[in-house]
Amino acid sequence: MNKRKIIYMFFLIVALCILVSVGMSKFSPSTSKESHSISGRNIHELAKEENKKITIAAIGDILIHDRVYNDAREGDYYNFDKMLANLSSELKKPDLLLANQETIVAGETIGLSGYPTFNSPHEIADTIKKAGVDIVTTANNHALDRGVKAQKLSIDYLNQIDLPHVGTYLNKDDQDKIVVLEKNDVKIAYLAYTYGLNGIPVPKGSEYIVNVIDKEKMSNEIQRAKKVADVIVMAVHWGNEYERYPSNEQKKLAQFFIDEGVHIIFGSHPHVLQSIEWLEGKNGQKGLVVYSLGNFLSGQDEEYRDIGGMVTITVNKLQRGNSATITLDQPSFYPTFVASKNESNYIMHPLVTSEEAVDKYGASIYKEIMDHMLIEGQAE
Ligand SMILES: [Zn+2]
Repeated sequence: MNKRKIIYMFFLIVALCILVSVGMSKFSPSTSKESHSISGRNIHELAKEENKKITIAAIGDILIHDRVYNDAREGDYYNFDKMLANLSSELKKPDLLLANQETIVAGETIGLSGYPTFNSPHEIADTIKKAGVDIVTTANNHALDRGVKAQKLSIDYLNQIDLPHVGTYLNKDDQDKIVVLEKNDVKIAYLAYTYGLNGIPVPKGSEYIVNVIDKEKMSNEIQRAKKVADVIVMAVHWGNEYERYPSNEQKKLAQFFIDEGVHIIFGSHPHVLQSIEWLEGKNGQKGLVVYSLGNFLSGQDEEYRDIGGMVTITVNKLQRGNSATITLDQPSFYPTFVASKNESNYIMHPLVTSEEAVDKYGASIYKEIMDHMLIEGQAE
């Protein structure tokens, strides 16, 4: 009995010692077990990958000549909806759609006007928003057509209808803010600049009103945008009017943007389409440039000026722990055509099914435009 008791006590003491040592180790500040479990958890988090996808798209110039708004007039209202009706299901497909609002939308209170100093009805902004446009660039050569006050009235209207805009500003603070849109956990910074203002000088003290191309300023804004967004989109008004191929100046500037870290460049101003190309940045990263999106809706019916379209790019964000990698898929292009008769009856059509475009340009126009935009081996 005694012997058994001693053995029993011995095991009890051994068991107690084990329990105490395990307990102690749990509360000791830095046992190897504990640090191992923390690093194990970190390894698990780092290994966790998440892939987010969004589609970013753009269309060209919304350039409203007087013949276009006169055609839209219904009593004291301007109905542009009917001009875009054939395209609205397509324009709603991308997650984020950018347009170049070439003409200001200050409305009737200051008097509407067409070429060469434009001011468009409010309703055109309502229509493009309703059709699927998520943001407009307003930095272009017509930004100061009617002066600083008119540009501000135009911005006021965009703010009033909640249509995000970039490139012209109410004040310096406004200009310094990076415009970021977010979709599916992907943040996209939009930047916008114009080569000039048709010779109209920016009044002293109002330099904030519009972003004019300045490499140092742009580089600085791109670096700031990197801190607040995953993807950087540059909308740039550049190039030579009516030229179907990009100039050397456009090419050099595009390379500069991609080197600086811009992911996608959407160009406008030539009023005709110029190609979509991949560029390689100085760190080996791929970036996409659309040299010119052409006119989207305008009163111009000269050769190729009534053909525009929508470029769409899928952006992938691969999140691993705290770091994210952005990759771009092949872009797609959806060409459009503005049909008109005797400077009225403006109606947009998908180019692929437009009999009016075939009548004007011939049966191979769709293929010709697709080949023009999507250079083989560059895009599809
Ligand atoms: Zn322009």
